Amino acid sequence: MKSRCRNCFKQGAMLLSIIVLGLFNLVTVAQNPAQEDVLLEHARVIVGDGTVLDNAAVLLRGGTIVGVGQTADMLIPANTRRVDLSGKTLLPALIDTHAHLGYDGFTSWGAHNYSLENLVDHLNRYAYYGFGAVFSAGSDPDALALALQRSQASGEIGGARFVFAAGMAPPGQGPNNQFLVEALQVERQTGNTILRGLDSPEQARGAVQAVAALQIPFIKLWVDDRGGSQEKLQPQIYRSAIAEANRLGLAVVVHQQAAADMLDLIDAGTRGFLHGRLEAGFTEEIATAAKANNVFIVPNLGLSELRTQAIGDDEFLAQSLPTSVVQRLTVSARRLASPQRDPQLEQTLHDSFETMLRAKVDVVLGTDAGAVPDHPFGYTGHRELEIFVRHGMSPAQALIAATSVAARVLGLNDAGQVKPGLRADLLILDQNPLDDIRNTQKIYQVYLGGRLLDREALAAGFTAE
Ligand SMILES: [Zn+2]
Repeated sequence: MKSRCRNCFKQGAMLLSIIVLGLFNLVTVAQNPAQEDVLLEHARVIVGDGTVLDNAAVLLRGGTIVGVGQTADMLIPANTRRVDLSGKTLLPALIDTHAHLGYDGFTSWGAHNYSLENLVDHLNRYAYYGFGAVFSAGSDPDALALALQRSQASGEIGGARFVFAAGMAPPGQGPNNQFLVEALQVERQTGNTILRGLDSPEQARGAVQAVAALQIPFIKLWVDDRGGSQEKLQPQIYRSAIAEANRLGLAVVVHQQAAADMLDLIDAGTRGFLHGRLEAGFTEEIATAAKANNVFIVPNLGLSELRTQAIGDDEFLAQSLPTSVVQRLTVSARRLASPQRDPQLEQTLHDSFETMLRAKVDVVLGTDAGAVPDHPFGYTGHRELEIFVRHGMSPAQALIAATSVAARVLGLNDAGQVKPGLRADLLILDQNPLDDIRNTQKIYQVYLGGRLLDREALAAGFTAE
């Protein structure tokens, strides 16, 4: 009896605490800004599909955009919180379609940094820089990555939305050799699978089926030989994997840095190229085939370019890193204050962009951030947009590449535009990026899922030594 009573008391206390917690939750929900209607008014609105609305309003309700247009035309509930955005520009939160989360610790890079906590830190860094979603391309342990997605979907974890692919390559291979060692270490640490080795067409079909069974909608395929350091994935194997993926409704994105195989990969049913080969060898024929087959291309040019620049001297980056890390990225023998560019390569890249734009290929923002040390999250996306414009895109085209098209290629049907029914993932700028693409770096506010991000608090955490 006595022990039963003790249990009764315990159960009672537990019940009470559940009720108290429940009430507490109700209170926090009631006070939560995402739960009240918010009217962001008097802004220039870049919709994400190429249209721009002047002096427009955006009505948010419960994390969703419910109205876009003129305040006079909207039904606005009496208790709506109104935010004056006169002089500001509002656009959809950006999307990075090529990154590798989890490995970067900023003071060091590798498997020892990989953890759920570090993934969340990286998603928060993307959010801080105005990104609503990021695609981690083939370097994440499958069960842990799926658990992260579930936590995010249920609202336990914030940050930019985490989208990822299962990785596939010839057995024992995958990303560059430095990265490969660390990815294999993370597999051992977690007991999960990151890379599935493909050694025959039949076995490749089985590997794709295993990924489909886990309900991971993307496969990242490493095809080229990484500059001779690894074995190339044979066409009969990638053809088999891609065909099976398409049959099961999965999308295959490829690492392919030689133009030679691009046509065959397009013909095989590839969804997109995460490193479009835009140097010598990129042709009108490739661009036309990509367009005809609805294949997207991520130019990914900042990866080589930014690593030779003194990015630590850029306050837009320095504000989100510990001082010791910033120091390392300032001017040095390796990092120049002003970039030196090979005029011939510049011309080739200009020509390739012109060819892609003429063919109306889906050019998409992607950075490969996190794949190597010192190619940081979020920041590099803004810099990549500068590169797009330098090579001939208009700022409007660059923003489309970073928003609506990026959302479409990742299957995020609820993101990438400022339209009713879509998620309230918004980037608000002090200056108009249509005048100068570098104005995407003049961040005023970020809303994710209708919640205003506390960027100052995030930065305080990011810069702590
Ligand atoms: Zn990559």
